[in-house]
Amino acid sequence: VPLGPLDMVVLATGMVPNSTDPDAPAQEYGAELLNADINPYPADGDYKPAACVPPGGSLLNLQYRQGPHLPMLADGFSDSHYICFPYETRRTGIYACGPVRRPMDMSEVGEDAMGAVLKAIQVIRNAAQGQAVHPRVGDLSYPKIGLNACTKCRRCTVECPFGAIDEDEKDYPVVNPTRCRRCGTCMGACPVRTISFDNYTVEMLSSMVKAVNIPDEFDEKPRILIIACENDAYPALDMAGIARHQYSSFVRILPVRCLGSMSVLLISDALSVGYDGVVLMGCKPGDDYQCHFVKGSAMAKERLSKISETLKSMQLEVERVSMVDASIADSARLPKVIDELVAKIDAVGPNPFKGF
Ligand code: SF4
Ligand code: SF4
Repeated sequence: VPLGPLDMVVLATGMVPNSTDPDAPAQEYGAELLNADINPYPADGDYKPAACVPPGGSLLNLQYRQGPHLPMLADGFSDSHYICFPYETRRTGIYACGPVRRPMDMSEVGEDAMGAVLKAIQVIRNAAQGQAVHPRVGDLSYPKIGLNACTKCRRCTVECPFGAIDEDEKDYPVVNPTRCRRCGTCMGACPVRTISFDNYTVEMLSSMVKAVNIPDEFDEKPRILIIACENDAYPALDMAGIARHQYSSFVRILPVRCLGSMSVLLISDALSVGYDGVVLMGCKPGDDYQCHFVKGSAMAKERLSKISETLKSMQLEVERVSMVDASIADSARLPKVIDELVAKIDAVGPNPFKGF
């Protein structure tokens, strides 16, 4: 079906919206990496995507470099965040309802379809006014790419959870605003920090990190940075405060749009100004995912797995950097987790970069 001239597609119950061939190759180079976008968390159990769909070509034939499919997540559903964005799929502008997105009976389907249509209407109206489909308070900007510094490495294309980045004829990345959900994962992925939003940049985060007072080694007060996802981890910490749960006063918390928007360069910046440790706090990645942007926390975990080389080059211990899974319901658990991490980092000793 040529989807170019259409504004909205309504699929009846019983139609198969997902790819008919999840293993179909991506359209261009980088197929191996890009195909990971189609089904990033294949289950180890009985679930076999290919067995869930009929043979043949793609029904939707989407014009995405990652392939013509509507990506499926665990158990073959096409949602992108079942709690907060129930109708969204991982292809912005396509809204799923009914048993396509979760098991439900006929009595629920009508109401569900209404929800999906209202969501589509909201998006069409926003777009007609030139507004972002996924606005954030005070910031309607899309990622901007400084092409003068771009090395054409394609990390942003590969890591974007929504396939919103393509490349032009000279291989420079191009953001498609109607697909972008403004998660910042591309910003965190860029090794040369050349992707930014109007009011959200790596430099801005770095300045916030450096603005914190770091006690010197003789004060015997460690300073630990928690980089917290603003969707779940940060509100959970907020709730811990409201409930008057106590945790170490040595931590300072930096909220980020999604852990995926966190560049590893931010960690080295923090350690080089004397923080004794850095903790990433974000949604649980994997099959039972909670990430609002599908794979932002998985990307952060992937980047963190390579931090040991950076720590080695700085002659610092690996125990200084860790990652904690946190959901919005964890307000009672997190204080204990934080205190344990602070004790662990304190036992390693002060960061030798303090005072430089
Ligand atoms: S902000 Fe998120 S959705 Fe938009 S281009 Fe970057 S990674 Fe993709
Ligand atoms: S990640 Fe950065 S350097 Fe790499 S292609 Fe994207 S913008 Fe260019």
